Amino acid sequence: MLIQLRDIVEQVSKADDIHQALDILVKDTCKAMQTECCTVYLANNEQSRLELMATQGLKFSGQTIHIPFSEGLVGLVRRSAEPLNLAYAQKHPNFKYFPELGENVYQSFLGTPIIHRRQILGVLVIQQRSPRSFSEVEESFLVTLAAQLAVILAHSQAQGQWQLNENQVHSYKGIAASSGIAIGQIWWDDTHPDLSQIAPASCLDTSKEQEWLALAVESAIADFRRMRKRFDSELNKDTLAIFELFIHLLHDPMLRADLNKQIEKGDRADWALRQVVELYAERFASMSDSYLRERANDIKELGQRLLYFLHNSEVRAPSFKNPVILVVRELTASILAAIPKDKLLAVISLEGAANSHAAILSRALGIPAIMGAQLKPESVSNKLGIVDGYSGDIFVEPAAQLLAEYQSLANEEEELSDLVAQELSQPAATKDGQRVELMLNAGLSADTNIAVNQGVDGVGLYRTEISFLLHNRFPSEEEQTQQYRTILATYPDKRVVMRTLDIGGDKALPYFPIEEDNPFLGWRGIRFTLDHPDIFLIQLRSMLKASTGLGNLNIMLPMISGCQEIDESLMLIERAYQEVSFIDPNIQRPQIGIMLEVPSMLYLLPMVADKVDFVSVGTNDLTQYLLAVDRNNSRVSEVYEHVHPSVVMALKHIYDMCQQYKLPVCICGELAGDPIGALLLIGMGYRSLSMNTSNVARIKYILRKSDSSELQDLLNKAIKQCYGSDIYNLVFDYLEQKDLAGFIRAGKK
Ligand code: PEP
Ligand code: MG
Repeated sequence: MLIQLRDIVEQVSKADDIHQALDILVKDTCKAMQTECCTVYLANNEQSRLELMATQGLKFSGQTIHIPFSEGLVGLVRRSAEPLNLAYAQKHPNFKYFPELGENVYQSFLGTPIIHRRQILGVLVIQQRSPRSFSEVEESFLVTLAAQLAVILAHSQAQGQWQLNENQVHSYKGIAASSGIAIGQIWWDDTHPDLSQIAPASCLDTSKEQEWLALAVESAIADFRRMRKRFDSELNKDTLAIFELFIHLLHDPMLRADLNKQIEKGDRADWALRQVVELYAERFASMSDSYLRERANDIKELGQRLLYFLHNSEVRAPSFKNPVILVVRELTASILAAIPKDKLLAVISLEGAANSHAAILSRALGIPAIMGAQLKPESVSNKLGIVDGYSGDIFVEPAAQLLAEYQSLANEEEELSDLVAQELSQPAATKDGQRVELMLNAGLSADTNIAVNQGVDGVGLYRTEISFLLHNRFPSEEEQTQQYRTILATYPDKRVVMRTLDIGGDKALPYFPIEEDNPFLGWRGIRFTLDHPDIFLIQLRSMLKASTGLGNLNIMLPMISGCQEIDESLMLIERAYQEVSFIDPNIQRPQIGIMLEVPSMLYLLPMVADKVDFVSVGTNDLTQYLLAVDRNNSRVSEVYEHVHPSVVMALKHIYDMCQQYKLPVCICGELAGDPIGALLLIGMGYRSLSMNTSNVARIKYILRKSDSSELQDLLNKAIKQCYGSDIYNLVFDYLEQKDLAGFIRAGKK
């Protein structure tokens, strides 16, 4: 049966459009189940009815036939969201005869809902003339088939291939990743050249071209591996196999050697690629075996993808004059870094989730962003769009009234940001005068000019990864020293907390690929740098040298999961310090802290207090690890709850322990810059918050209108709730009372 199931799914996914796909489905299912009738209905939620889309065995020739949600056995399957298996369907109290279907000839009925991510997309039914009690195995076959069909349907729905709810034709939903509203032209970069258009071009420096090509090959391999993993859970083995093949080919020494040889002849990398790919494709095309002949197209596709990486290895600013809503397949920090901020109204990324580093960067830049949006970029490009970064809604070619509503929301938003900006230079404090240290998260952007950040008490988290990500190799000691010096010198009288390299997870270096099944649980942060003391020591020495004469450097260690890692890091920091202070006695010993983001550290705080000078809570990863939810995976983004009760309890525990052991503590995860999160944290007792530039003004404003003892009461209530939504709503109500709910447009949960 598994083979039949796979065959049906494969045939269905190969179809040109959804109608053809469903026709194939009903025919093949009848055959596989040895029955006479199979029908698929899709839900039209606006009209509360199920519409017959394809059938084998019922009277249907493309006219509209529908069954209200509330009626018949098909309606019952939808309502109960469960399979229904009846040998004598007509005896069931919910049976209803629909004359237009001509189903009176059928006695038995097996129906199952088609569910995608909790949403009922339709109902799949098989029927038979003679009474037949479908076996358990047959029932589970149909359930499995419906689950596979759901994935195909959801995908084609997102691609705009079918849409029963007429009013939604021009709207899409993604994950709200960076708040704000944008209205403007949608832009999708479809300017990547076709491999067949690459013209002959020569090069002067062959080793540079070879390096360029090698980088593209590595990036392509990493991308194919990611794709392979993503498709792994789906039954479409064809797609999976193609990625396997690509990876295999890219590792093929002969292909690599041929490419390099072509470059050695003086050809530019992309021109060399075209020639080699065409040669290989011709070779395959002339083979007698039909399977191998088919591979000619695969080779061409591989070449095309490689070309994409060749042209993308240097991210260039796109050539649009007016600011746009940018659509990208996967938002990366380098894309954001390459495009001037005044050219970006908003970003829509087809992949990713709200806590990926690219999403954090868009928040830092104050650019509304939506991640995991399922839409077909070509069909929305160049059209007028609205991006609602609060709700995750995208509207394409909106009606005049909707446009006017959003226009006035955008105006309100502008007024709000003018209002909060007026008091930016005042120190952060609550209404009752409790001073809050308000620090800045910096470094995700390639832009080192962070002088904009007046009105902060220092830098609470400087992420050092970006300069590593933007190079073709590890940056040198001198390069790093200069970079860190710029930051430290911008805040001569303030504390700057520099975090040592935290690569791994979703931050892979193109020149040092790390292949792991679970990158977030793998070789990441301090685990990597301790295994590479060479790289670690260069970075430590650079930080120390950059701080000479300033004395404001604090070093912070990421992804610490045990005391051993702290001890080993301290030894290396001491060694680096001895080395540099021997040459330059003006260099002071830095304060040293750790990120608290792995849950194991919650229990080790008493021991940690003896070893380090401060801790900083990384709520992004702490939430990920506490709730066992990938911060980057849009499928589970609903599970990633910022104010999940356990997250709130863990944060309270950390604060209380740090108080007890007199260990200074700051929050540097995204929660600190979120109005709901910030109020809860102040209620817990935290008095040091570090956040992105774009949040500084509004958090200051909100704090100034809030009373610390009221927040403490609020927290005491929040900590007793068992649902994250109730915690959120409690704080939301408080903001509403204070007339501050305008800062959270997502509304109540
Ligand atoms: C965190 O995990 O909360 C954090 C601040 O670090 P990053 O987002 O860079 O992983
Ligand atoms: Mg982290």
